[in-house]
Amino acid sequence: MLDKKEAYRLEVSKERISPLGIRYELTRKRVKNINFRVRSDGTLAVSAPARVPFKEIDALVDARRAWVEKARRDVLAQAARRQEPCPIDKSRALAVFQALEEPVFQKFAPLLPERPTLCVRDMKTRWGVCAPARRRITLNLRLALYPPEVITYVIVHEYAHFIHLNHSKAFWQVVEQHIPNWRELRRALRFSPPSEEKSV
Ligand SMILES: [Zn+2]
Repeated sequence: MLDKKEAYRLEVSKERISPLGIRYELTRKRVKNINFRVRSDGTLAVSAPARVPFKEIDALVDARRAWVEKARRDVLAQAARRQEPCPIDKSRALAVFQALEEPVFQKFAPLLPERPTLCVRDMKTRWGVCAPARRRITLNLRLALYPPEVITYVIVHEYAHFIHLNHSKAFWQVVEQHIPNWRELRRALRFSPPSEEKSV
C-alpha cells in the first residue's frame, strides 16, 4: 500500500513538451505500462509508472507522433461535428433507442427494481448518462446516427451502471457478458457515424 503522501505525489500531473514539440500532461500512476489518451478537447494525457524516466516517456511520445496527431484530428473533427445541428430529431431517435433497449431491458430486468426511463438529449461530451437514483438513462441524440450494435453497446453500458456505478473491472465484466466485442464498438464512437448521410 502507498501512504497518502506518496499516492498524492504519484497522482500529480505535470505539463510536458517532448523534444519534437508535442505538449502532453503526464500523470504518474501505479500502472504497468505507459498509456496514451487523447481527450475530447484534443489534449494528450499520458500515464506512466513512477520508475520510468522522463526521457524515456518523451521519446515514446515522439515515436507515437503520427498516432497522436491522427487521434487529435479525429476527436477535434468530431467535436466540430457536434456543433452542427443534428440531422435526426428527438422523437425519431427515441424510437430507435427504445427498440434497441427492449432486449437489453429483458436481460437486466431480474436485477433491477423498476424499468428505467429512457431520455434523449443533444449532449456535447457524452454518449450516455445513467442516473440510478432517478432510474433514468439519457442518451445522446447523435448516437442515433450510429449502427444498431454501437447504440446497443451504449445502452448496455448505461444499464451496467445500475449494477456498478463506476468503471471498475467488475463493471466491464458485466458489459462483456452482454457484448463480448464492446472494445471495438466503443472505439467506433470516436469516429463519425458511417451511415450519417444515409440516415438523414
Ligand atoms: Zn460509464
